[in-house]
Amino acid sequence: MPALDPAVHRPHLEEALRLAREAQVAGSAPVGAVLVDAEGRVIARGRNRVGEAQSPEHVGAASVAHAEMDLFFALGKVREGAELTLYTSLEPCLMCGGAAALLGVGRVVWATHDPWGGSGRLIAWSDHPAMQDTDVVPCPVPELEAEGARLFAPEAKRAFPEEGWALWRGRYPVETAEVE
Ligand SMILES: [Zn+2]
Repeated sequence: MPALDPAVHRPHLEEALRLAREAQVAGSAPVGAVLVDAEGRVIARGRNRVGEAQSPEHVGAASVAHAEMDLFFALGKVREGAELTLYTSLEPCLMCGGAAALLGVGRVVWATHDPWGGSGRLIAWSDHPAMQDTDVVPCPVPELEAEGARLFAPEAKRAFPEEGWALWRGRYPVETAEVE
């Protein structure tokens, strides 16, 4: 896909961060995602629901209830995936990055790196034939990268083993400094 001006990404990353805060308020992990078509229209939204009950509309109460999986369930069948861009507040994990690549999503953009749980290197470097066409755009807006890091840092400390938290502290020393 052709490269885009970072300004194009900003409103969609802001929406992903808004959904991340919504997840946090609801008792789940603060991660959000939106899927955007070639005209820039949002066609699906998702957020983490790991800490919430299952409902007819949403996967929940499951360890796989990540923001991107919520989004893909909400969307149903993926059509013309190559035209789509997935925006997330946090670098997708192996499951969600793999799902996006295998569904043929043309571009994945995230606000903030996840130096422990992220799959960006996998998507970018995999020689799996189904994963060759996904364009990866990490952290195009520095201000939103910092916002996403501050938002997720407490969860990173809680959820990741010591070496994972050490990677977070190394990558985001300022944003992790306030976490108790
Ligand atoms: Zn995930």
